[in-house]
Amino acid sequence: MNEKVIVSKFGGTSMGDAECMKRSALVAFNQGAKVVVVSATSGTTNDLIELAKTAEKSTWENASLILTKIKVKHLKIARELEMNPEKIEPINQLCEELESMSRGVHLLKDCSLKALDSIQSIGERLSSVLFTEAMNIVLRAQSVQTTAKWLDVRDVLITDNQFSKARPLTELIKTRCQEQLSFIRHSDVILCTQGFIGKTQDGMTTTLGRGGSDYSAAILAEGLEADILEIWTDVAGIATTDPRICKEAKAIPEISFKEASELATFGAKILHPATLLPAIRAHIPVFVGSSFHPEQGGTWVKKDVEDMPLVRAMAMRKKQILVTLSTPEMLYSHGFLYQIFKVFNDHKVSIDAITTSEISVSLTLDDSTLLNKDLVNDLEKFADVQVEENLALVSLIGNNINHTPGLAKKIFESISDINVRMICLGASKHNFCFIIAEESAAEVINRLHKTFIA
Ligand code: ADP
Ligand code: ASP
Ligand code: MG
Repeated sequence: MNEKVIVSKFGGTSMGDAECMKRSALVAFNQGAKVVVVSATSGTTNDLIELAKTAEKSTWENASLILTKIKVKHLKIARELEMNPEKIEPINQLCEELESMSRGVHLLKDCSLKALDSIQSIGERLSSVLFTEAMNIVLRAQSVQTTAKWLDVRDVLITDNQFSKARPLTELIKTRCQEQLSFIRHSDVILCTQGFIGKTQDGMTTTLGRGGSDYSAAILAEGLEADILEIWTDVAGIATTDPRICKEAKAIPEISFKEASELATFGAKILHPATLLPAIRAHIPVFVGSSFHPEQGGTWVKKDVEDMPLVRAMAMRKKQILVTLSTPEMLYSHGFLYQIFKVFNDHKVSIDAITTSEISVSLTLDDSTLLNKDLVNDLEKFADVQVEENLALVSLIGNNINHTPGLAKKIFESISDINVRMICLGASKHNFCFIIAEESAAEVINRLHKTFIA
């Protein structure tokens, strides 16, 4: 028996239909995974959010159309997996639970983040039931003793109560993993469980934020003192940039934790930005590969790697907002930055990039929904506030970036016809980022890729 603990996570596209599930299950089996963490089936989290919003704001007829769509999609997979009525029962129960919650939202015309988290949790709970069956089909075909068992991850993945972006309570999770799951190292069981969701100490369902299944897998890997964490997705590893934006993007065989963390934070959707933190803390190497083409290999993310290029990869994040605060009072005074950061802190809004001048400070925020009226009103108590939208943050990720002469020249020469609104360099050895208009972002990435990588 393989006594290594390998935690494998499969994303939404790897859960697309019964075929995808069986293909992913075979990958998990071949890799010797002991714990498999799955996302909701492709598109389902979006459908669940739409369902919740429709139930809150529109007619019940409209909401029930979405409800039916979700139910039909999952029952179809169950049929394709030839699940008998007894096995299908949990699927029906989850659909009923979803209907009750949606009716509650509709009657109250109120969809709190707490309600939305419970509604979204159904996606991973449904897919994990189906995947457990797919895993058992594969195990039977391999004629092995091993069996797959469904696990409710909420029994171990305990979080705080920040609904929609809950934070895992690491120490508690470690204790629960050791108490409840450590048997897995010496067992013939493969645990199949949900990504993305957790539970507060008083039993309320939470989610870790969009794309959070990667993070879930990493937290479980840490809790279980796993030997390897694998993230299986629809591309063969981390590439030099998003292959959807740039056809010339190339797979990266090895990347350091620091570079990969920056890449994820600055917009490479392939990894949730928090994924690597638990892996770094627990010294767990991470592999990223394609569940569709496992034979193509992938990327190893490790503490130390041999090759440390100046520019390894690039990423972009759209829907950025640039907020510029100006006041003559900033001149020769102290405490101004403290005051404005306190306002952002009070509103629980996190700031990304910052530059300051004599009497003004510019900072960027991710996603326009964050900048609400109250926040702007509070900022206006201290300064004139100017807001620019439809911007993109472009980042180059690599090594020794802040100590290499000539880099900025090369970057800006290759995009000399494009207006750059803000530049951030210096804080990190691994990152150079700047703000441009959103519509130029893809072009900029392609040009920089040509200059530095292709
Ligand atoms: P999953 O559903 O498996 O979590 P995601 O859609 O969240 O998958 O992430 C995979 C996608 O990330 C890829 O299809 C690709 O378009 C995108 N992506 C963005 N940046 C990169 C990059 N540097 N390398 C590889 N993929 C990237
Ligand atoms: N299903 C969740 C989402 O779509 C989490 C994930 O897939 O990682 O955001
Ligand atoms: Mg993802």
